[in-house]
Amino acid sequence: MAKVLAVLYPDPVDGYPPAYARDSIPVVGDYPDGQTLPSPSAIDFTPGELLGSVSGELGLRRFLEEAGHELVVTSDKDGPDSVFEKELPTADVVISQPFWPAYLDAERIEKAKNLKIAITAGIGSDHVDLDAAMRRGITVAEVTYSNSISVAEHAMMLILDLVRNFVPAHEWVTVRRGWNIADAVSRSYDLEGMDVGVIAAGRIGIALMRRLKPFGVHLHYTDKRRLPAEIEEELGLTFHPTAQELVTEIDVLSIHAPLTNETYHLFDDDLLATMRRGAYIVNTARAEIMERDAVVRALQSGRLAGYAGDVWYPQPPSEDHPWRTMPNNAMTPHISGTSLSAQSRYAAGTREILENFLDGDRIRDEYLIVDGGALAGTGAQSYSTDGTGSPGSSGN
Ligand code: NAD
Repeated sequence: MAKVLAVLYPDPVDGYPPAYARDSIPVVGDYPDGQTLPSPSAIDFTPGELLGSVSGELGLRRFLEEAGHELVVTSDKDGPDSVFEKELPTADVVISQPFWPAYLDAERIEKAKNLKIAITAGIGSDHVDLDAAMRRGITVAEVTYSNSISVAEHAMMLILDLVRNFVPAHEWVTVRRGWNIADAVSRSYDLEGMDVGVIAAGRIGIALMRRLKPFGVHLHYTDKRRLPAEIEEELGLTFHPTAQELVTEIDVLSIHAPLTNETYHLFDDDLLATMRRGAYIVNTARAEIMERDAVVRALQSGRLAGYAGDVWYPQPPSEDHPWRTMPNNAMTPHISGTSLSAQSRYAAGTREILENFLDGDRIRDEYLIVDGGALAGTGAQSYSTDGTGSPGSSGN
């Protein structure tokens, strides 16, 4: 019997939805590169339901309990008295979501004597100290591709939000009850013709560039691994060998790299100062790729015309986190990868990983980040080149 400890975000404060806004979600085929959708033996939920919060339980309870396993679900994740910390020493499996991360730093991994696998219901396992997981032989797996398109759509929306000045215009007419056209348009531009750059052309980065192409922009990118020439040609991409070389050439930047020892605090005052005055940054990757206060300073000085994203550090952020109030921001909570559509895919993928783990079967390579004491599968391709993992968030 295994003990599975799942840390999920709290239920809606307004109560669980009695009915959903739509009756169903579209059935989509395999992912754009041919990777197949999650394929557990069965699912015990209706796609389109809220699965990522505590009562949704990722649709796992029946399956686990019928097989004789124990499932503990909590949203209480921070501090030594949290349910997470109390249950952790006896857990075999931890499931967490990047939207409400249960930080598994080296100290917690040390306490988790039974832990064999940490599953990310979503993408991005930087809330786990990957180096500590490697040392302990703990497998780290995530549901690769489950929400990559969801995030690409969100980044596309945020780019338009910033460049067109959507949020202030919306506030003028709804919150402030005005009709102030001149105020609303005094920071509004067309995206067409702009230089748009993407850091990391992985699953999300490529999907975003495909969506950007019809807007008539000039596309630039950097990645550790250059894309095949056919893709560069198809999308009209200009490759820059480093982020430093990319950022001086663009008006809009969207960041899609994992948080690793190489990307941690990449954007500091010095790098931001090299960007064009009035550039925009969209960051749906990870907050710690930015130096928090350098972003605030760049917005205050006008070096950046806008910053949008959904990733924060820590999560949830304190009430006085400066990104809540900095000028010209279009921030949301961490939601881009947890649309109801995404939830059905990553809940099914989490079940597939659990079934494999519990049956002693091999987990698909594309889902593996760390296995057998080293980066593995997608982890070996997308995380640091030096074989180390993330800086290992310390939690709060
Ligand atoms: P992916 O593995 O397909 O792509 C990652 C890409 O980053 C790879 O092409 C890799 O070569 C590149 N890369 C790694 N280190 C780099 C570096 N130092 N410089 C340049 N490129 C680098 O992953 P994906 O599905 O595209 O997701 C990317 C990241 O987005 C995740 O790691 C996660 O942090 C974040 N994410 C956020 C959400 C959200 O809800 N906001 C959801 C999913 C993923």
